[in-house]
Amino acid sequence: TQGLMAGKRGLIMGVANNRSIAWGIAKALADSGAEIALTYQGDALRKRVEPLAADLGAIVVGHCDVTDPQSIDAVFKTLEQTWGKIDFLVHAIAFSDKDELTGRYVDTTAENFSQTMQISCYSFTAVAQRAEKLMTDGGSMLTLTYYGAEKVMPHYNVMGVAKAALEASVRYLAADLGKNKIRVNAVSAGPIKTLAASGIGDFRYILKWNEHNTPLRRTVTIEEVGDAALFLLSDLGRGVTGEIQHVDSGYHVVGMKAVDAPDI
Ligand code: NAD
Repeated sequence: TQGLMAGKRGLIMGVANNRSIAWGIAKALADSGAEIALTYQGDALRKRVEPLAADLGAIVVGHCDVTDPQSIDAVFKTLEQTWGKIDFLVHAIAFSDKDELTGRYVDTTAENFSQTMQISCYSFTAVAQRAEKLMTDGGSMLTLTYYGAEKVMPHYNVMGVAKAALEASVRYLAADLGKNKIRVNAVSAGPIKTLAASGIGDFRYILKWNEHNTPLRRTVTIEEVGDAALFLLSDLGRGVTGEIQHVDSGYHVVGMKAVDAPDI
């Protein structure tokens, strides 16, 4: 893939540490010659993101909390001043109150429902609005979703509802922005042990279940998600938009427990 992203520049939001899916994507893009800008959420993550950015030769364009529109505007202003235009955008951001990523969906509070939707769904549209203005030669936008949008997964609850809305927003954004040669897609990743995932109840059990029941009989890595993202963000994916690309060892085609799977 060397040189595949040569001459392309873009923003990646959602690196928290070297286990983040956004980091897997950043590495794949940098290895292919992309120039990358990263944001961080708050000072605690700044200390983690700055050395990671240095590893890739990426620039850091500041703090961004998607609940604060001014911080989003500031990031895009910096990008405009630094590069003038961008070619790609990666949104790898989600949040819900840990107390509601366990137990029953029916008990979701109005406050956390709104917060989860704002951070995990609306924020993609909010950044797409700003990114569109900088994608003057067309571009490619990508977000991250999970199978809990399509089917009920234990403990995923309100996050599943937000991911369903996020997947619908991928289709609406693709329809709106296609005329400007901007493509919009999502990768639906299988479960991966990250900071965000550790908030989900029984996450280790979910990983084990995937090891025994996916067609490939294993979980996926951030490098594998990174390579699929590279396809969608590069010219290899030039005919693809509005797509939800599963990178989940095939789990989404499975109807029931594998007959050879052990009891776990
Ligand atoms: P992660 O914890 O590494 O990344 C989550 C990121 O969201 C962090 O960088 C955090 O700073 C950011 N974030 C949260 N609230 C924010 C806010 N208000 N403003 C700005 N940033 C905010 O975890 P991850 O698993 O790499 O998550 C990335 C994306 O991948 C998420 O959308 C997640 O739902 C999705 N995903 C994860 C899995 C999995 O199993 N890990 C599977 C499918 C999809």
